Amino acid sequence: MNAPDGRSPRLRLSEIFASIQGESTRVGLPTVFVRLTGCPLRCVWCDTEYAFQGGETRSIDDIVNAVATFGLRHVCVTGGEPLAQKDCPALLRALCDAGHAVSLETSGALDIGAVDARVSRIMDLKAPGSGEAARNRWENLALLRRGDEIKIVLAGEDDYRWACEQIAAHDLAARCEVLLSPVAGQLDPASLAEWIVRDRLPVRFQLQLHKVLWADARGK
Ligand code: SF4
Repeated sequence: MNAPDGRSPRLRLSEIFASIQGESTRVGLPTVFVRLTGCPLRCVWCDTEYAFQGGETRSIDDIVNAVATFGLRHVCVTGGEPLAQKDCPALLRALCDAGHAVSLETSGALDIGAVDARVSRIMDLKAPGSGEAARNRWENLALLRRGDEIKIVLAGEDDYRWACEQIAAHDLAARCEVLLSPVAGQLDPASLAEWIVRDRLPVRFQLQLHKVLWADARGK
């Protein structure tokens, strides 16, 4: 756990809070969210721009202790892009060692290979409407396990068609769960649901439950 100088590695932390998991197959579970600061991407529909900068520097030991105070089993490390900080894999490992069920939300633009096998990786594939599709690190697909999940956020019908092509071309549904969700206010959720049923797409439709409950309130 400790660095060669004996100190626990330190990360830039944006916020830590307990809420209901709003996405993924863990939707609805009371969860502690550890939001790390910083992201090298700039998705046009990003809803966590406040996490691009700021926050405070905390040691891994501090963060694990803070998580423990919430008394919850499920922990989600998110951002920003958590893997942009080199000590994120050590934090994930420490949370697993502390007995938590840990998930990681990642953009799909950085190498996911160093993440502990106990962690469920919720990995985005960026559709063209995000403005960041060129950042997809396609090599990550070969690293996915059954407990991981691929999330594709769609801004419109063009993005949906793109997602269908990727699901077919890379046999995504055979690798792990695939989640499709609409950008709030840009793609009608009912339309996306109807397309999925019409096309018999082997995916899971999802809405961001936390936005249904609390709109865009921070720390929820
Ligand atoms: S990867 Fe996530 S945090 Fe980064 S810009 Fe895109 S949506 Fe925002």
